Amino acid sequence: MKIVLFDIDGTLLRTGAGRRSMERALTATFGTPGDPAYRYDGKTDRQIIREAMRLAGFDDAAIDARRADTEARYVAALREEVLSTEKPAVLLPGVRELVAAVTAHDGLVLGLLTGNVAEGAAIKLHAVGLDPQAFVVGAFGSDHEVRAELPEIARVRAEHHLGRAVAGDACVIIGDTPSDIQCGRGIGARAVAVATGHYQRDELATHGPHALFDDLSDTEAVIATLERC
Ligand SMILES: [Mg+2]
Repeated sequence: MKIVLFDIDGTLLRTGAGRRSMERALTATFGTPGDPAYRYDGKTDRQIIREAMRLAGFDDAAIDARRADTEARYVAALREEVLSTEKPAVLLPGVRELVAAVTAHDGLVLGLLTGNVAEGAAIKLHAVGLDPQAFVVGAFGSDHEVRAELPEIARVRAEHHLGRAVAGDACVIIGDTPSDIQCGRGIGARAVAVATGHYQRDELATHGPHALFDDLSDTEAVIATLERC
């Protein structure tokens, strides 16, 4: 049995709503949206709040004190922004077919491993017509600020879901950034990289994923990789 853990942004879907919503929340809470050059991809929502506001001159005590307010404002803004018709959220190539194939596969369990807070993840998935409930195992940015802590959380949740032991190397993380490739090493998880985010194929290859795809459109090839990696 393999636990297939999908990243969301740049992997399942693409949306500008996340960044716009976080910048609105940061502005409302701290008075600044942070540096526009600061990259969000591969980061957890709490890591984004901390790093962006440290760069804006706030100390950790001030950031921690305002984190809950920022998250609440972020989720409220995301509910609005995700409906924006200007830059709608889009499902990436092959995702609907792959999600269906993993769900139907007896040897695979469909899950999420994402830096999004759980509420934000559900909003984004709904926006592209994916059912958050179909992902029966999940670890989120609301579980931990550090992405590398999320694979163990997902592994333990998979054990509870299945009612039996799940080894680290039975977890496969699929994502679009070096952080997705690296985060599971502590538990021996496998990493499948996909170049549908901001990172190019060559750049992802240097981080040594177990497999690498241009996109997820070849359902059969991705499923075969998940079965054997
Ligand atoms: Mg991503």
